[in-house]
Amino acid sequence: MLEQTQRLEETGAGIQLSPNAARTLIDLGLESRLRPQAVVPTALRILGAASGREIVRIPLGEAAERRYGAPYWVIHRGDLQAALVAAVSEHPAITVKLGTRVEGFAADADEVTVWAHGHAGLAREHGVALLAADGLWSVLRERLGDGKPPRFAGRTAWRGLVPADQVRPEFREPLVHLWLGHDAHLVHYPVKAGRLINVVAITTDSWNAPGWSQPASAADLIARLTAEGWAASALALIGLPEAWLKWALYDHPPRRRWSQGAVALLGDAAHPMLPFLAQGAAMAIEDAAVAAQCLARQPNDAAGALRTYCAMRRDRTRRVQRSAARNDARYHLAGARAWLRDTAMRLIGGERLLQHYDWLYGWRPPASLSII
Ligand SMILES: Cc1cc2nc3c(=O)[nH]c(=O)nc-3n(C[C@H](O)[C@H](O)[C@H](O)COP(=O)(O)OP(=O)(O)OC[C@H]3O[C@@H](n4cnc5c(N)ncnc54)[C@H](O)[C@@H]3O)c2cc1C
Repeated sequence: MLEQTQRLEETGAGIQLSPNAARTLIDLGLESRLRPQAVVPTALRILGAASGREIVRIPLGEAAERRYGAPYWVIHRGDLQAALVAAVSEHPAITVKLGTRVEGFAADADEVTVWAHGHAGLAREHGVALLAADGLWSVLRERLGDGKPPRFAGRTAWRGLVPADQVRPEFREPLVHLWLGHDAHLVHYPVKAGRLINVVAITTDSWNAPGWSQPASAADLIARLTAEGWAASALALIGLPEAWLKWALYDHPPRRRWSQGAVALLGDAAHPMLPFLAQGAAMAIEDAAVAAQCLARQPNDAAGALRTYCAMRRDRTRRVQRSAARNDARYHLAGARAWLRDTAMRLIGGERLLQHYDWLYGWRPPASLSII
């Protein structure tokens, strides 16, 4: 594994690991490392941003675990990373080279050569295949001939963390809260075994500096949401984190081609998506499981294995990208259309709303490939 970061630090805030992702991580033997840090939300509680009233509760917790055979977890990204790093460092066949930035590659029938800048300057690495999991701004995607950059979504994500004992008791409960407002929504849930609350707000914005995590001002966010008439309890929560970071959101229409010979894209490099279905990392985790299985089944034909991997992942990730984009429209309705949405959700009810996600949360690697 070649990673440009110099040090693996506990960065980022919370992440939702829906049953499709949790199952894959459990199959990889990570349950004992993840479960102590994860929170199992009992439901997704959807509220109106202006009224502050609950619209519907979609059951998660035991209901999701019964239905999908795997838990729904929310966790701090640092805890997920620590579990993955610990498992990787115990694996004799895996070497992690930090401070190593991949610049390009050359592939022939038998071998892939990668050029990477490390502590000792430019070095070559040789392997049978290259999985390019270099994220939204993937350099390797460009090297594969897809120079189209991600497109700015006109939205900003703001995130903060607050000690759980500072928030109202109802916001400390093991629930994922989703507040729907016009042109903005808010998500919060407990992480770190319930000790911290992760708060993420999404607003409409023209600010589009690429990259991650710029310092942001709570006052700015509160002013925007106050102008939109948000409920006092939501505004009070937003006032609590000591620091806010923000970043501009990008996505990309589904790409036709992710692989070339024994080189393939994985995760956001292949299929960046808006975070409105909480599935970007889940799709990267599923990709990794399927790619590993394909390579294990065809150890002497890496190009063939990666062609199979792409064929197996294309339709699903495309569907998830499109569903996430549709949620962008659904979440940010106003007036009569918002009223109709809320009424429909109430009439359908939480149980049946959960069933709409069977195709997503019930995913398992194809049986013929179950060799993890
Ligand atoms: C507000 C928000 C909330 C989200 N919430 C969720 C959620 O709840 N659930 C969920 O599943 N997803 C969520 N996501 C999406 C998720 O964060 C991403 O989809 C996921 O991080 C993608 O993983 P990745 O490994 O493909 O890319 P990244 O996480 O971007 O990792 C890429 C890695 O490659 C390294 N790298 C880049 N270029 C090079 C190079 N040239 N050489 C070496 N190393 C390189 C980087 O340093 C980095 O470590 C959310 C996203 C946002 C913005």
